[in-house]
This record gives sequence, C-alpha cells and structure tokens, in this order.
Amino acid sequence: MIPFNKPYMTGCELDYIQQAHANGHLSGDGPFTHRCQTWLEQTIGCQKALLTHSCTAALEMAAMLLDLQPGDEVIMPSYTFVSTANAFVLRGAVPVFVDIREDTLNIDEARIEAAITPRTRAICVVHYAGVGCEMGAIMAIANRHGLYVIEDDAQGILSTYRGRPLGSFGHLAALSFHETKNLISGEGGALLINDPRLVERAEVLREKGTNRSKFFRGQVDKYTWVDIGSSYLPGEIVAAFLAAQLEQGVAITKRRLDLWASYHQWAETHESAGQLRRPIVPAHCVQNAHMYYMLLPDLAARTAFLSELRRLEVGAVFHYVPLHSAPGGVRYGRVHGSMDHTDNLSERLVRMPFWVGLEDHLGTVFDAATRALETCHA
Ligand SMILES: *Cc1c(COP(=O)(O)O)cnc(C)c1O
Repeated sequence: MIPFNKPYMTGCELDYIQQAHANGHLSGDGPFTHRCQTWLEQTIGCQKALLTHSCTAALEMAAMLLDLQPGDEVIMPSYTFVSTANAFVLRGAVPVFVDIREDTLNIDEARIEAAITPRTRAICVVHYAGVGCEMGAIMAIANRHGLYVIEDDAQGILSTYRGRPLGSFGHLAALSFHETKNLISGEGGALLINDPRLVERAEVLREKGTNRSKFFRGQVDKYTWVDIGSSYLPGEIVAAFLAAQLEQGVAITKRRLDLWASYHQWAETHESAGQLRRPIVPAHCVQNAHMYYMLLPDLAARTAFLSELRRLEVGAVFHYVPLHSAPGGVRYGRVHGSMDHTDNLSERLVRMPFWVGLEDHLGTVFDAATRALETCHA
C-alpha cells in the first residue's frame, strides 16, 4: 500500500528533544520556542511569530484579536478546512462565503467587494496548495474599506507572492505544522503578526489572558489577569521537534518541488488527452509543493478513479466538502453570490500521495494512476 501521507523526519528531531530534556525546561516559551519564532520572523519577515498548538489555535487567536462582536461578518472562501470558519464562529461572527477562482482555487478577489456590508470586519484568505491569493488586490480592497486581513497560511510556508513570503501580507496569518503539512511537529502552528498594534495583546491572549510575557521581560513587577485568553503555547518538546524541521525547511521544500515536477510532467500527456486538468501556478507565485492535485472531468470520473486507485493500493484522497453546503456552514454561515466554481471543482479534485521519500515509488503510482484514468474513461 502506498500511503497518502508519511511524515518526513530530518534525523535531528530526537537530538533536539534530548537537548530540551536536558535543559529541564518543558513548558512553553523556552529556548526552542524562541529559536522557532526567530526563524519564522527572519524567514517570513513578520513583526512577531508566536508558536501555538495548531493552525486552528492561531486562527482562534486571530479572531479574538479582532474583537469581533456577534453578527460581525468575515468574508472567506467556502473551499477550505473547517477551522477557517469555526475560529470566527466561536466569537459569534458570521462567515460569508464567496466563490473561488477557477485557475488557483483561491478566493476570487473580484467577488470580495460585492460581499462587503456594514457588518463586515475582515477578509480571511486561504492560500490553497501553497499558491498565493491575489494579495495586491485583496489588501487594496481591505484598505479601502477599513477591514482586517487574515491569511490562513496553513499550507503556504516558504511560498511567495510577487517575491514576498506568504504570511507577511495580512494583519495576521496562521501557519500549520500538522503532520500532513510541509514542515511538521505532529500537531502545531504559529500566529504571525504583521500589525505592530496587535503584538502585545496577542501575547496576553496566548498566556491565559495574563501579562506573563511582560513579567518575564521585567516590564511589570507582578503578573495578573488582564484580558480574555486561553492556553495556546506548545511545550518545548514539540518546539524542539519543530526546530529540526524548520532548520531544514528549504531542503525539504526543494525535495517536494522535485516530486511535484515529476507529477506535473507525468500528468501532461493525460491533460493533453483531455483526461484531467493539472494545477495552475501563476508566474508571480512561487509555490512550496504542498500537494499535487488533479481535476478530473466530473464527479463520476473522480469516484471511478479513486476506487480503482484504492484497488491498486495507492492512497489518493479528495477534500473538501464545501463549507457552505456542510451542516455547520448552513447553520452558521451565509453565501454571497454564485458558488459554481466551488461546487464544480470540489467534486472533481483528487489529491495524489505526496511525501518526501515517495520518489522511490513514483513508477508504481504513475502506472496505477494511468490504469485508473483508463478505467474512468472506459
Ligand atoms: C491544515 C489546515 C488547517 C488546520 O491546521 P491545524 O494545524 O490542524 O489546526 C487550517 N486551514 C487550512 C487551509 C489547512 O489546510
């Protein structure tokens, strides 16, 4: 069986965990957390990076930082993971779903402005497959209407848009280090803060609503409850694992890009034969090979393709059920405009197995996929 995902280890993880163990500092915000945060700040160029338990936690912190009131609206794509919406719903806000672009499957920036109402407070974009949204147009709309921008950058570490790292555009951005992402710590994430006005409060929310960070820097003489908050910081064992991954992040990404290029080349003849559509990466976006997806002609073809691959023991999958048509989305969200691309593309998308080390099994994957394509067109 060729699995869909297999976590890649650099070989330095256990050494760093052993160092954390020897340091005797196991709770959060120790030396490894600082090492990871500094790496993120220097690599992405954000004002401040704070490690969290997950991207979901970072999105929840972002929603808290915006001080959303019940009924406030956040514009976002429907074609995304549930946490993009849930983080805001937890604050009583309403996700307003707009359609995606046909080429990148990212939010269609041309449909955002029409969805703005007096209740709109923010735009939450998702860099699908690590390919940047049209951040120039999106930041211009947000500035014109006085809205916050949050980047759900779960998939976009080390990608750029017009030469600038994803995660450096919005007021806030959220990264994921879940084991299905490019750089991992099992579960893990980070909140990136580009708006300097939000840094101090972000530290408070992450430390159970206390001014503990200021206390440790000697800026106040006692620490106390000052705001709402929760516990969002990972322990040092997790940060040590992550440090090993981040330090080899560029090399890991390079190997993923080579794998992506092999898939793209294999898929070219099948695209020419009308059997599928390959991913489209605009020239001004440098991607990080988060995934290799393909678009089959319709739902029936996808179902046949996936079942044949399962029979041939190749772990391909599909995602997402669009949020606007999921029970939670119907209950808590609202749609603006047509959802034609979201509905259509989500029924046709297939994600192929993708992990560092799959290079050695690509022949098997390509043979199986070629056969499965023939089946679904028979
Ligand atoms: C993976 C993912 C998340 C959630 O990340 P966790 O770290 O598992 O919380 C959120 N949004 C998108 C777009 C994702 O791909």
